[in-house]
Amino acid sequence: MSNPPAPLSTWARNVSPSPTLAVDAKAKALQAAGEDVCGFAAGEPDFDTPEHIKDACIAALKGGKTKYAPTPGIEPLRQAIVDRYAAEYGLKAAPSQVIVSPGGKFNCYLGVLATCSPGDEVIVPAPFWVSYPEMVKLAGAVPKFVLADDTTGFRLTPAMVEAAITPKTKLLILNSPSNPTGAVYSRQELEAIVAVAMKHNLYILSDEMYEHLVYDGAKPTCIATFSKEVEARTITVAGFSKTYAMTGWRIGTTLAPAPIAKAISELQSQMSSNVTTFAQYGALAALKEKEKTSAALKTMLVAFDRRRKFLHAELNKIPGVTCLLAEGAFYLFPNISSFGLKDLDFCNRLLDVEKVAAVPGSAFGAEGYLRLSYATSDEIIKKGVDRLARFCASLKK
Ligand SMILES: *Cc1c(COP(=O)(O)O)cnc(C)c1O
Repeated sequence: MSNPPAPLSTWARNVSPSPTLAVDAKAKALQAAGEDVCGFAAGEPDFDTPEHIKDACIAALKGGKTKYAPTPGIEPLRQAIVDRYAAEYGLKAAPSQVIVSPGGKFNCYLGVLATCSPGDEVIVPAPFWVSYPEMVKLAGAVPKFVLADDTTGFRLTPAMVEAAITPKTKLLILNSPSNPTGAVYSRQELEAIVAVAMKHNLYILSDEMYEHLVYDGAKPTCIATFSKEVEARTITVAGFSKTYAMTGWRIGTTLAPAPIAKAISELQSQMSSNVTTFAQYGALAALKEKEKTSAALKTMLVAFDRRRKFLHAELNKIPGVTCLLAEGAFYLFPNISSFGLKDLDFCNRLLDVEKVAAVPGSAFGAEGYLRLSYATSDEIIKKGVDRLARFCASLKK
């Protein structure tokens, strides 16, 4: 009789699969089985990629852009990324500071790998995007969660950050506009938090994936613009997935100080090499054909804003539910703690009884909330929130 195979690695045994993708998969399976599901779980725009971006990719593919490209990205795309940071934020950088990676998620992971050694501590504001803790653990580092609930608008204060810092703290992750809460920090709020990070000589990973999805006149903040000192310690991640409805393309961007950019590029050269070469030409068109791109973005923003306001108003009409009006991304994060159910039970029952898919706040490190994505049709939002109201009423009986 042979022995059983040896156990898998600690990495394989300790990683948690993405809970948001899991809820979405369950909802899609129910839908495929013929159920009428209202899905609020998706973390991607319901729009298709604009035509001119697809056309540029197709032309590149037909034109033979089918070989390896430089690891950190094709030169014109890196230049276009530098140009847009200059135009949007007045930030001056060199193309060598830009790395194009296979999805913003991988940009974030490489940022963690480039700065953190085993045993280092990373401050992760909660509610957090589900991948941060896992990335930190995969680097052998230790996530330190700091919870900012709805009483502070899901935004950390400098004192909360200060209290979480130890001699082992190496990195602070910031994500404004936020997934899952949609919260947008003001520039002043970020300056105060970043000052704490500078005092303790921390690196900052600023995930600015939703920078262009803001409402009510809210302004995105590019943290690297604060000062030379901040710029030298800040890794800025952004991308194409959310702004241009390109989640399936797998293209994200990092802007980092030269030594970090070099390290990230070298890590990527051994882990994945370049992003799909012809896809990069689509991304280039997104940045170059500015008028078409901003028209497409405008259309999305108008729809998102309308749905945001509608969903927010309807949620607050439900007895027992309270919800802040988030200023960014495409999520609302209502508080459902008054129902006395664990949020995971709440979500499971909501899906079973009313066929409404939502992600429990606990998946983001904040028990007692739901994450509802309004990147779905007005009809589904209307129908889904009616069902949610009925479900909540049934719990109150
Ligand atoms: C979607 C998302 C990303 C990365 O998206 P990719 O699809 O990997 O480009 C990064 N950060 C946050 C907060 C996100 O929501």
